[in-house]
Amino acid sequence: MFNKPIKSLYYFSLLGILSLCSPKLLAQQADQDFQEPCGQVDLLKQLENKYPGFKQQYDKDYLQSIKRSASVGKRKRIVKDTTYFYDTIYTVRVVFHVLYNNSAENINDSLLKNQIEVLNQDFRRLNSDTFKTRNVFKSRAGDTRIEFELATVDPSGNPTNGIVRKATSVTSWGTANGISELMKYDANGGSNAWDPKKYMNIWVCDMTFQNQDRILGFAYPPYGHPSWPSSSWTTDPNQGVVLHYKVTGRNNPRSTGANLGTSNKGRVAVHEVGHYLGLRHIWADDQFMANRCILDDYIDDTPLQGVGANFTCNLTQNTCWSGQDDLPDMIENYMDYSTHDCQNLFTRQQSQVMRAALVDSRPGIISRTRIEERMRIFDTTIYDKILIYPVNSEDKIVVEMPDEEFDDLLSVEVYNSVGQQIVKNTRISKNETILRPIRHSSGMYVVVILKGGGDDQSPSTVVRKVKIFLD
Ligand SMILES: [Zn+2]
Repeated sequence: MFNKPIKSLYYFSLLGILSLCSPKLLAQQADQDFQEPCGQVDLLKQLENKYPGFKQQYDKDYLQSIKRSASVGKRKRIVKDTTYFYDTIYTVRVVFHVLYNNSAENINDSLLKNQIEVLNQDFRRLNSDTFKTRNVFKSRAGDTRIEFELATVDPSGNPTNGIVRKATSVTSWGTANGISELMKYDANGGSNAWDPKKYMNIWVCDMTFQNQDRILGFAYPPYGHPSWPSSSWTTDPNQGVVLHYKVTGRNNPRSTGANLGTSNKGRVAVHEVGHYLGLRHIWADDQFMANRCILDDYIDDTPLQGVGANFTCNLTQNTCWSGQDDLPDMIENYMDYSTHDCQNLFTRQQSQVMRAALVDSRPGIISRTRIEERMRIFDTTIYDKILIYPVNSEDKIVVEMPDEEFDDLLSVEVYNSVGQQIVKNTRISKNETILRPIRHSSGMYVVVILKGGGDDQSPSTVVRKVKIFLD
């Protein structure tokens, strides 16, 4: 069912010619050749039918969330909400529902565990193939600072390994058109969701239709609809991620052959969890429009792209021309349809959007939070709009706050490696604060940003810790 590489190459080589043809012909050609292995588009269509106006509201909410997340560090809410800081690592509680009609579908625990491992590596940019990110995109790659773990307690409070296994008489959950959600209900031979407010439910089942692997997965976006109050949305039992059992986990022995062999690294789940946390396809799903370079995915640090990579890894693919500093399509992105070998990144802004979705729309599924002290690594901490850096040649530390409205009282302290304070509590002023540490030896120092406190001696809270190296 999926395109073989030769067909896809044929398709892209035809683009130049087709663009001279009528838009209708172009759209038809795209329609015929473009494959949708992810059910996101079908799902949104179904939701629109069920809740008229959904799409419009979804777009509106999405734009608002982008706008909000793009201003991390600018808005005072960000400063007040310490859990939002990018030094905070969130862990998400996961439950798998494995539905099987035969032993092959009852996939091993090892695959489910390595699926969690893949999610953790890819979301933290700890995957082993980051070296494949092309230089033009390296500085755009981000660490979402979101991690995943199997649930240890079930909804009744009993210990669990986070895996529900159920035999079913249903031989396949695939459909000719659209998607089915029957796998999410006991009454239909599926498995009821665990409270979607508290768990990220992942159903693993046979999604084939007439022996074809048409849809590999789909996921619900976080969202509250006006005619469907957010309270009912968040408890909607359909919330969660569905994965085809053949592509769940890394090196699943069933992800082989021309159709599934390029989806064998467990990244269908990475893509679907991206949707679950609010991301769209990188090409904005406008491949069937006459001019598909108009719509964007609303993410600033992904290039404009006209169509998905369609199971190729074509480094020369560049479907939209954006002028002088034009970039190729970011086929490295998990939200594309490139081969798993090709994918290796979420961007920084995609990371921001997902973190905003998690904190704003799905806070209950966070099982743990922790602050991870990290050195300032450009690749991972650019999100922090308060910049902290030493100027060793001038023996000073600079704390730069963009010219935004910060109503909170913020201050900074610096400690050496054995916890001795080398810069006493100093109020951070707008724009730039210069710290001159007392005599010190070269080594690592910890810069601590606090809110509150100050002259009135009210309690202060640590909101960030950053390690820096002083000469
Ligand atoms: Zn998708």
